[in-house]
Amino acid sequence: MKLCGLQKTTLLDFPGRVAATIFTGGCNFRCPFCHNSDLLGAETQEEYRPEEILAFLRKRSRILEGVCITGGEPTLQPDLESFICQIRELGLAVKLDTNGYRPEVLKMLCEKGLLDFVAMDIKAGPDNYGRVAGVPGIDMEKINKSIRFLLNGNVAYEFRTTAVKGLHTKEDFRQIGPWIKGCGNYYLQNFSESGQVLVPETFSSFTKEELLEFAELVRPYVGQTALRGIDY
Ligand code: SF4
Repeated sequence: MKLCGLQKTTLLDFPGRVAATIFTGGCNFRCPFCHNSDLLGAETQEEYRPEEILAFLRKRSRILEGVCITGGEPTLQPDLESFICQIRELGLAVKLDTNGYRPEVLKMLCEKGLLDFVAMDIKAGPDNYGRVAGVPGIDMEKINKSIRFLLNGNVAYEFRTTAVKGLHTKEDFRQIGPWIKGCGNYYLQNFSESGQVLVPETFSSFTKEELLEFAELVRPYVGQTALRGIDY
């Protein structure tokens, strides 16, 4: 495991649970708006050994209820399964954040009962996906497989999109709705510029009104659509 960061406590990352968040290094996407750009490349510095993280979690296992594993893209880690097993042995629930580009890993972890919750990014409408994910020639069937698996599976999940002015238009959300039809929970979050953005000073955020318009385009197809991190 390439473990590059640890947030010791969060009430936001794992719905309904007090959690710690672990950041893994490396990603198979290059979303130009990525705000974890320091975690993307092969040269990313490892900050923690797995034993250190597990020792921390063991010490905090009475206070914590879960662990969120995020990235980067965690499904790229070859020993993710055994790492999750060790976390579960501490009695902690596990949430995985993923871009959905390794459907076979997602499926395997779910089928082995190792995940309590999955949050999958829907980067854009299918026509705009490669551009927003920074992957020319993206294989959309991989994304489709992950979406279908979560829609038809029995692990709790959410889909979410970070809306970025300069990358997304209404057309993305017109396409996303029917694509994820039947999804229980879909969240829209706004882009915000930070010192870590992969392509800095290029993109901006939408207004709340624009986001609400996007949400309305998706709403007819999903159980619940909400803006995240924005006051209504
Ligand atoms: S935002 Fe994109 S590039 Fe950044 S970690 Fe997530 S999937 Fe990878």
